[in-house]
Amino acid sequence: LVSRRTQSEDTVISFGSSIIGGGRQQIIAGPCAVESYEQTAAAAKEVKKYGLSFLRGGAYKPRTSPYDFQGLGLEGLKILRRAADESGLKAVSEVVSVKDLETASEYLDIIQIGARNMQNFDLLKEAGRMKKPVLLKRGLSATIEEFIYSAEYIISQGNSQIILCERGIRTYERATRNTLDITAVPILKKETHLPVLVDVTHSTGRKDLLVPAAKAAIAIGADGVMAEVHPDPASALSDSAQQMDFSEFEEFMSELTASGLLK
Ligand code: PEP
Ligand code: MN
Repeated sequence: LVSRRTQSEDTVISFGSSIIGGGRQQIIAGPCAVESYEQTAAAAKEVKKYGLSFLRGGAYKPRTSPYDFQGLGLEGLKILRRAADESGLKAVSEVVSVKDLETASEYLDIIQIGARNMQNFDLLKEAGRMKKPVLLKRGLSATIEEFIYSAEYIISQGNSQIILCERGIRTYERATRNTLDITAVPILKKETHLPVLVDVTHSTGRKDLLVPAAKAAIAIGADGVMAEVHPDPASALSDSAQQMDFSEFEEFMSELTASGLLK
């Protein structure tokens, strides 16, 4: 059902006046994790400043170590919702468990399924029964075919509002956090009718590569990019080294705008 063979036109997902897909690129930005109302609201205002429409922020964080900050959970979703509403933004956040899906969806405009859960088939099927768009990230070691099958799990339950997100894959290369598989974008666009985003933060893990990676993503046909921005990255409870501060975000936005690539 996600195949181009069953639907030749691009899927376009509408959020009132903002859309994902359909030839305009969106930038989804915000902190790695929701840490407090003040931190999230500050990031939201910054995101709004550039005329963007989507605020990200993790409330359920899938951390590698169980001793690391796990996110604020439901409280985090409430904060994200409030901050997004106050700045007139749409809210995007990851859900890691079937049990939280329904409640979380009440607070979100886009339900994110993260790389570590790309093959959590129960979660995919339940997300397929939700009435909200799902942003599905590519698994750490997933092939493009496996990624497409995961999207198929969602659509097979009735939810066709799916956004794919390339976020880098694990290879032997250590110069970047993951290896951004840039050609996954045109392949996914060719094989499926779904919008495709690139997460430049988690794929590179390097702030000096965010601008070139975002330019490459858009030039190669992505429907947008995701990037992390935090009011004070040094104090961030997760991904402290890779989140942009506000002046870096300003630079990021101005370089992308100046590139003339954004439509
Ligand atoms: C995230 O976007 O917050 C995240 C954890 O990314 P990924 O699932 O791609 O690692
Ligand atoms: Mn992160």
